[in-house]
Amino acid sequence: MGAQSLDISRRRFVASAGLAATAVCLVPHRLFGDEESLVIAARKSGETANITVQALRGNVSALIGSGGNIAVLPGNDGKFVIDSGYLTSREKIMAALTNLGPDPIKHLVNTHWHFDHTDGNEWMHSAGATITAHENTRKHLSTSTRVEDWNFTFPASPAGAIPTEVFNADKTLRLNGATIAVKYYGSAHTDGDVSAYFTEADVLHTGDTWWNGYYPFIDYSTGGSLNGMIKAAETNLAMVTDKTVVIPGHGPVGGKAEMTEYRNTLATIRDRIVALKREGKSINEIMAAKPTAAYDAKWGKGFVNGEFFTKLVYKGLGKDPA
Ligand SMILES: [Zn+2]
Repeated sequence: MGAQSLDISRRRFVASAGLAATAVCLVPHRLFGDEESLVIAARKSGETANITVQALRGNVSALIGSGGNIAVLPGNDGKFVIDSGYLTSREKIMAALTNLGPDPIKHLVNTHWHFDHTDGNEWMHSAGATITAHENTRKHLSTSTRVEDWNFTFPASPAGAIPTEVFNADKTLRLNGATIAVKYYGSAHTDGDVSAYFTEADVLHTGDTWWNGYYPFIDYSTGGSLNGMIKAAETNLAMVTDKTVVIPGHGPVGGKAEMTEYRNTLATIRDRIVALKREGKSINEIMAAKPTAAYDAKWGKGFVNGEFFTKLVYKGLGKDPA
């Protein structure tokens, strides 16, 4: 697909981006109270989510709108899929996949263990998919796992949802005539994040190491790290050129310019909060100083608003795993 048609599909996406943003905004902003966990609200949002299919390059498409963004490469080896969305969107995801061709789903890679990227694992496995992921992703899906900042404890996933092909470093797949380089980040958004790069098409799916236009969540309960998240953003920038088409974990498809802005936003906010802490300010005083204020209109519209992101950054200072 040429640059012109890519531009057209980007425009088409912009027209529907409001729908995806609406789904994100259904999730409550208050995350530290006793009210319903955002996990339950997010899963509910999957019932009414609209799935937008965006054709990229080299026959790779992005499905946007149900939880984490999904990438698909159909072909003779069966569909290769990255992430499985909410279970509550199963029918819509299945319909979108069927529209991309008759091949069965044969290969699923999870970018990490979070529910909005893996809730569909079980049905995709019953449809024929072998599930591949980092070994830490399998570990978290295999046991009861609590995410403190979501106020939610996930039970162990059903057997069919658990990855059976695991790795602990980088991995290269060859499917449907494409080379797919799977990269492991160490401690970043979780301790099991991977990206997948379609080498010939020059299309990268970053998983949740990049959130395009949203403050990211950092999951300290399962090995995430603030500096690891910023380092992952820098690693991603080093992997792309101005021509690379990049599917983020959340938000619209973008590229190097948006990834650069994201990295700089994270680093600037971290540095501000570090400076306030060095002045001896408490978390309450730092919150009152609103260190994210200049960024909130653009980045705080998702489920991580400026207040929550400030708490997350503060919590992550000086707590890097070795
Ligand atoms: Zn995630």
